[in-house]
Amino acid sequence: MKSVYFFGAGKAEGNAGMKNLLGGKGANIAEMTNIGMPVPPGFTITTEVCTRYFEDGGKLPGDTEEATRTAMKKIEKIMERGFGDPEKPLLVSVRSGARSSMPGMMETVLNIGLCSATIPGLIAESGNKRFVYDAYRRLITMYSDVVMEKAAGIEPKDDDSGVRAQLEKILESLKKRKGYKNDTDLTAKELKKLCKQYKSKVKSVIGEEFPDDPWEQLWGGIKSVFQSWNGKRAISYRRIEGIPAEWGTAVNVQAMVYGNLGDDSATGVAFTRDPATGANIFYGEWLVNAQGEDVVAGIRTPNALNIASKQPGQNDKLPSLEELNPEIYKQLVGIRDNLEKHYTDMQDIEFTVEHGRLWMLQTRTGKRNGRAAIKMAVDMVRERLIDTKTALMRVRPEQLDELLHPMLDPAEEKTAKALTKGLPAGPGGAVGKIVLTSERAHEQGKAGEKVILVRLETSPEDVDGMRAAVGILTARGGMTSHAALVARGWGKCCVVGAGALEIDYRKKTVTVEGKVLKEGDWISLNGSRGVMYEGKVPVVKADPDSVIEYRKLMKWADDISRLGIRTNADDPEDAALARRFGAKGIGLCRTEHMFWGEKRIRAMRTMILSDNTEDREKALAKLLPYQRDDFYGILKAMSPYPVTIRLLDPPLHEFLPEVSETKLIDEIAKELKASRKNIIARIKSLHELNPMLGHRGCRLGISMPEVTRMQARAILEAAAKLHKEGVRVQPEIMVPLVGHVREFVNQKREIVTVAKEVRKKHGLRRLNYKVGTMIEVPRAAITADQIAAEAEFFSFGTNDLTQMGCGFSRDDSGSFLPYYVESGIYESDPFQSIDQAGVGELVAIAVKKGRSARKDLHLGICGEHGGDPASIAFFHTVGLDYVSCSPYRIPIARLAAAHAVLADEGKQPTRKSKPKSKSGSKAKPKTSVKAGSKAKPKPSVKAGSKAKPKPSVKAGSKRKK
Ligand code: PEP
Ligand code: MG
Repeated sequence: MKSVYFFGAGKAEGNAGMKNLLGGKGANIAEMTNIGMPVPPGFTITTEVCTRYFEDGGKLPGDTEEATRTAMKKIEKIMERGFGDPEKPLLVSVRSGARSSMPGMMETVLNIGLCSATIPGLIAESGNKRFVYDAYRRLITMYSDVVMEKAAGIEPKDDDSGVRAQLEKILESLKKRKGYKNDTDLTAKELKKLCKQYKSKVKSVIGEEFPDDPWEQLWGGIKSVFQSWNGKRAISYRRIEGIPAEWGTAVNVQAMVYGNLGDDSATGVAFTRDPATGANIFYGEWLVNAQGEDVVAGIRTPNALNIASKQPGQNDKLPSLEELNPEIYKQLVGIRDNLEKHYTDMQDIEFTVEHGRLWMLQTRTGKRNGRAAIKMAVDMVRERLIDTKTALMRVRPEQLDELLHPMLDPAEEKTAKALTKGLPAGPGGAVGKIVLTSERAHEQGKAGEKVILVRLETSPEDVDGMRAAVGILTARGGMTSHAALVARGWGKCCVVGAGALEIDYRKKTVTVEGKVLKEGDWISLNGSRGVMYEGKVPVVKADPDSVIEYRKLMKWADDISRLGIRTNADDPEDAALARRFGAKGIGLCRTEHMFWGEKRIRAMRTMILSDNTEDREKALAKLLPYQRDDFYGILKAMSPYPVTIRLLDPPLHEFLPEVSETKLIDEIAKELKASRKNIIARIKSLHELNPMLGHRGCRLGISMPEVTRMQARAILEAAAKLHKEGVRVQPEIMVPLVGHVREFVNQKREIVTVAKEVRKKHGLRRLNYKVGTMIEVPRAAITADQIAAEAEFFSFGTNDLTQMGCGFSRDDSGSFLPYYVESGIYESDPFQSIDQAGVGELVAIAVKKGRSARKDLHLGICGEHGGDPASIAFFHTVGLDYVSCSPYRIPIARLAAAHAVLADEGKQPTRKSKPKSKSGSKAKPKTSVKAGSKAKPKPSVKAGSKAKPKPSVKAGSKRKK
């Protein structure tokens, strides 16, 4: 095992293809070195060493120590300096670098090598005492916090008792005493004294001396980076992002270069294109006389890199690097162009200028929001940097979600009261209540409240609260601050650097321009423009079709996809919406939602509570015209595409009133000429102990064939009418919950009989329709050949198939499934992403057996998994013809279907699109018999499915559909 990879002086042992071993940062530094960029020399200790370090109980394995010493010698040679040398000391940085970037999650220690032996030499050499003591106090702060406290497993009692906070307190009180605003105001003498105070504070807080030996500092730094992989913040972030623990992190040790050596030095971060809009402009921030952390930490508002990056009201009055130092800026532009050509993707870079010399510290693929990802991908095709297939892989299906996100209504926004402006760090609009701590945001967000997390700045500890909030607002920080990076990665609405905010955590208030807002007050954010408004500004649905690059990308996707995309829709409005998003047919029309109009439900209840066929038929005759109109509307809205209409599925008790609803019961009793007592007895008799496995699905139609006949008649008469009107329609009648072929045959017979009658009645020679079944009972999957001999199509009902296949109740599994996912028993919630090895295998068996009996058997899936990219890839692989999902998932499904084809061709997505478990939420989602209701189209069901295109906590739950 080679444990250390060197880079420096134009040559590196690693390259960009070695991310797994060297981490993203290490691999890219190696690559930059190889293509001749000015990179300070250094080396990367591999992720394998990290894994071994943990296996060996916290020891550096094998020859790591020896290889590190050898590599340090090489750095010394290139830099012409010595580590610990009293005259020309070499200082190094130690940084983490995992395979995929985890902004701010892990540790960095700078200025390692400064000690009592090297300080005088560095002062003499630099002629800058102030700089040396400033570097030293930074080293003491970082090292004591990261190595001596965190890595040693010391848990401070509260936020203020940690060593870093204690040191910062000393600094703040010194600044206050002296009347200084910035750290840069401190003199050399003051800093020297401060370092002394720092060291004795470290001793008193931690109980150990600050190490004065460079090598001890280096080993401590290296080990602490490894330790930080298993720190609380990193674990939390990994869980949210689906990053496996076994990846480990690499450690990068690199010669220090300084951006804080005076006014001819600087440090900055930049994106080769604008990460918020995707525009092809160089976009960045920098600070004169500063170290890298100053830019990202958001303590000082950074200057814009160039005129194009200036933000009105933020940094437009500050000089840009382009204006102040055109020579360095020109060099940087050259590097930008080279990097984009080399990587053929947008890069996020860090640079330092030391006494007028430019050094590149890092490049990595830049995080971007969905809109920007699409624009960049399409633009880069036009610029001939990439081909269309690569462009497709550059956009993660979930990123399309952002284009479908609501925005603040532009008309309403004009008249809304803008309180202040910040930077547009995350897309879309958010309306929520102010919450000032991450914990409360997490709690309230989990409880379903809409909250906006408002902080001075965010830190990696805040990720759970940031995740739960609908939006994030910070007073400090730039476009590269922690809040901005994280929000952009998640596509979450976010405004940063709103400097006018005065936040008082103790009083729980936010004061802005004299207006005092309390925690719990409503505000609205426009994350695309960076504006904060008072109160609730109405939101509007997004219109992705207005984005030309989106249309292009989707066309490329459709051109290569094999899977068809249909929608789950129960009314013409949803059908029309889904068509706009690109659906070509309805894969599931749940007819139970159609019985809830005032008059309909009465007839429905009368039908259910009739104790004889005659009364039932009378009630059904009243329902027929309603159903026919519904089907007419939906078939027409989807013409000429197919519409799969499922016969009645839910247990009947779901349509009935509670026995306490006496007024309703009396009405039904009157209609049926029965007594109240009698009706109550019938309602009670319909109660089932396990309704999901009870009298539902085709069992209803089998025991009451008149129900199937009415529905079939309504569908076919609507189709006949449309046929006569010259509208092309393709109804597909689907029998639910079939487990045995004879169940299907029974229902098919009823449907075919009705079809003959309708054809005759309407004088038609031919009536275009199909009869098929859902495959949602494991027995049906196993006997699919027998069923396919009778059925023209299958649609996999993967919600029920998961319920019955895994034996997990759709409505009650919330009490244990999150634990299952957290502990790795299931990789993800099987109701969100198909359990490929188990339920998926049932699908595969059914496909194989079904097609063995009927070669042209048409196959689709209409469970919630139809909108999940990982599941879509699986359905593509097993050979389904289409997936069907809710309208807002359609664009995601279209892109995922294209990705599935590209995966076949060996193309890899930029990042794994793993379905996210709800950040390990342990709370049981609210469920009850009602919540599991199949029948009731509660307003929240509809609103929920429209408003929230992402997979819900429990996609299996009927209520969440
Ligand atoms: C299914 O079971 O997957 C399905 C689509 O039907 P429902 O969710 O209505 O039970
Ligand atoms: Mg079902």
